[in-house]
Amino acid sequence: MGKETTPKIDDVRVIEFCREVAPASRCSYVQVITENNAIHRDCFNNVSKKIAADGGTMQLGWTIWLRPNVLLSADCHAVWVNNENVMIDITPQPDGEERILFLPDNTIDSIEFRIPSKYKALTKSPLVAEFVELLDARGKFLSKFKTSDVMLNMSESEKMTDLVLSMRIDEINVEIKRKVGRNASCPCLSEMKYKKCCGA
Ligand SMILES: [Zn+2]
Repeated sequence: MGKETTPKIDDVRVIEFCREVAPASRCSYVQVITENNAIHRDCFNNVSKKIAADGGTMQLGWTIWLRPNVLLSADCHAVWVNNENVMIDITPQPDGEERILFLPDNTIDSIEFRIPSKYKALTKSPLVAEFVELLDARGKFLSKFKTSDVMLNMSESEKMTDLVLSMRIDEINVEIKRKVGRNASCPCLSEMKYKKCCGA
């Protein structure tokens, strides 16, 4: 499976996915200008600190990611809106992305509890279908915990539930990332050749 990347804004599958995630909204590219001291994966606190220092407001919404030929995902995210009303992502992104595809969503009213990501398979692979099911299950499971201290609030049995889910997720992740010959059948079990599927 290819690397997770910012998809093209005019990709029909992206437009459809955005419509499912936040029907009243439209996605746009948002520039990533990392703020000093901003912490990876801590967008809400990063933006809050920025507002306290420089004004502006927070926009909640979703970052859209593409794993080519495999799946689309939407991760809950906060960006900073400056005094000229321009959205800027001040949180460092994995792989140093310079812009993200961002879908504002004003129906997200609280970030106290973890908000599950949303996923859409782009393939008929049964392995990817299981992957999406497990990611959804884990997102739902984690959504009963507060954003700030997930691990601290987990009982021993909840930690075990999370571990079982994560282990299978990691296992499938490794399997569908596995490289094979270009003309071999794809490890994701889509019944397509590797070069036309996850190896494209
Ligand atoms: Zn594949």
